[in-house]
Amino acid sequence: MKHILLFGPPGAGKGTQAKLLVEKYKFMHLSTGDMLRDEIKRSTETGLKAKAIIDSGQLVPDEIVAEMVRLRIKNIKDNTGIIFDGFPRTIAQARNLDEIMNAENQEIAMMIAIDVNDDEIIKRILERGKISQRSDDQDINTIRNRIDTYNRQTAILADYYKQQEKFKFVDGIGTIEDIFKEICKLVEE
Ligand code: ADP
Repeated sequence: MKHILLFGPPGAGKGTQAKLLVEKYKFMHLSTGDMLRDEIKRSTETGLKAKAIIDSGQLVPDEIVAEMVRLRIKNIKDNTGIIFDGFPRTIAQARNLDEIMNAENQEIAMMIAIDVNDDEIIKRILERGKISQRSDDQDINTIRNRIDTYNRQTAILADYYKQQEKFKFVDGIGTIEDIFKEICKLVEE
């Protein structure tokens, strides 16, 4: 099965598209953001550490997320494809992921980037903030910090996967269905 990285700035629609991919192809959805929010809800040690970092729009330390991912995909069945949503977010995490996948005899098939401009993502996140319970979606400063963090630490990952000839992208402006169709074409290639 294929393992796919969904990539793009906060608010690009990674979570939305990941859910559709899971429905259509029975992928396993691995969202480090969801996993961290679950840790916060359960008030675990990781959750307590992560809360303030997430609300400031920074990244949770690489070792913490890498360990969460490692445990989640340990002994994964051969026929399970994974959609990675929001991971990796730094070069160190991409290297961690390579190690984790090697240990499981698995390989990343491709990174699919969802391309959306800053004005549009700020608008979308503020809209989402009105209905989601996410505190990091409510505050414009947090949102700006997340975009800033993305540009400084995460955007460069595109090069990491271009070098491996695994980088693909779709235009993230349009209807959810149209963007999904484009993503499906890439997945089925
Ligand atoms: P979004 O893509 O809209 O920012 P996520 O749910 O993916 O939403 O992430 C929310 C927050 O969780 C991030 O701003 C960050 O603080 C933290 N987070 C999620 N994934 C990672 C990761 N791979 N590395 C570090 N921090 C992460």
